[in-house]
Amino acid sequence: MPSLSEETDGAVTMLEPGSTIGIVGGGQLGRMMALSARYHGFKVGVLDPTPDCPTAQVADFQITAAYDSKDAIRELAERSNVITYEFENVDADALDEVRDIVAVPQGTDLLRVTQDRVNEKRFVNDHGAATAPWKEVNGYEELTAALETIGYPAVLKTRSGGYDGHGQRVLRSESDLAEVRAQNSREGFFPPSILEGFVDFAFEASILISGNGHDFVTFPIVRNEHRNNILHLTLAPATVSHEVARDAEALALRLARGFELSGTLAIELFVTKDSQVIVNELAPRPHNSGHYTIEACSIDQFDAHVRGIAGWPLPKPKLLSPAVMVNVLGQHVMPTRALIGEHPEWCLHDYGKAEIKHNRKMGHITVLTSDIDGTVRDLESTGCWSDLA
Ligand code: AMP
Repeated sequence: MPSLSEETDGAVTMLEPGSTIGIVGGGQLGRMMALSARYHGFKVGVLDPTPDCPTAQVADFQITAAYDSKDAIRELAERSNVITYEFENVDADALDEVRDIVAVPQGTDLLRVTQDRVNEKRFVNDHGAATAPWKEVNGYEELTAALETIGYPAVLKTRSGGYDGHGQRVLRSESDLAEVRAQNSREGFFPPSILEGFVDFAFEASILISGNGHDFVTFPIVRNEHRNNILHLTLAPATVSHEVARDAEALALRLARGFELSGTLAIELFVTKDSQVIVNELAPRPHNSGHYTIEACSIDQFDAHVRGIAGWPLPKPKLLSPAVMVNVLGQHVMPTRALIGEHPEWCLHDYGKAEIKHNRKMGHITVLTSDIDGTVRDLESTGCWSDLA
């Protein structure tokens, strides 16, 4: 089977076309990784519990099993040359157990850091990047003490497992604290948590960085707008000063070096009114806010991920055109489909999900434009996203 070419000291250099990339997780991120892997000449296997999941539709084989099944991870490892993942809640121990039979170029430290908000914040601060002030809290007394330092308003988040605003609440006053206490005693359980100071940001942003273990390349900083805690729009590039762009790039490079990053890492940011760049969270994988790169950049986040984990050299991504990306959630599928014929400028991506559900990410649309604000207005004026107005 074609595999990794090796230098004489045994270090892995480059994954050869014809080799197999195994992806843990078969959603849209895995699907777009798989499409990229395929046109680089790689074969693709995917582990996902849902038969014919979005990634399986474009992969060579699927192992249909739970993500945390050790047997399934071993089977994927046996049938692949490298393993990657499309989400961060992968069983890091299970991956460590198969590293003698398959390459895991991203390693598992990256997973262990990004699976836990306390580890993540510590890592970010240790690498010279700012976060909101934070404290680990494991019970009501610790929460009360942390609030004395951090003050109101603050955001209480579970250490692990939260996404898109799940597992978090804003505490604005003592009555919110009393509610937490009541819930706590009802449930008889206080999940390991983190308390963060509330950042009064001017806007949310993100920056992507990709690496092949030793060289790292950044994508432009983009602006993100959320509705109901779900990404709605990405505006690329963000309108920021040279200093903000430079700070974001510098912090991304520090974090990537700290991880000896292979593949793509997304860094979610807050930009404050006084131009501070603050890290909110990390995603050790391609990210929804990087989908615009498929049409708008000289190399996209999925190609950069695949090349990075394959140990290939990485060209510096260039923004070829400003762009707007809008998510198509379940409730937007029918309205957007009805308008495809009228919008040749819409680069529509559909993830092939069998079941259309409210707020489920079903696809996205990217529009290349020289007028970002005008394009946002045009998109909103279609009425397709009126539920988010
Ligand atoms: P997260 O799950 O950490 O990405 O948070 C989801 C959303 O909650 C973010 O996109 C922000 O809009 C908001 N948020 C999270 N943490 C903070 C914070 N410390 N200050 C203000 N807003 C926050």
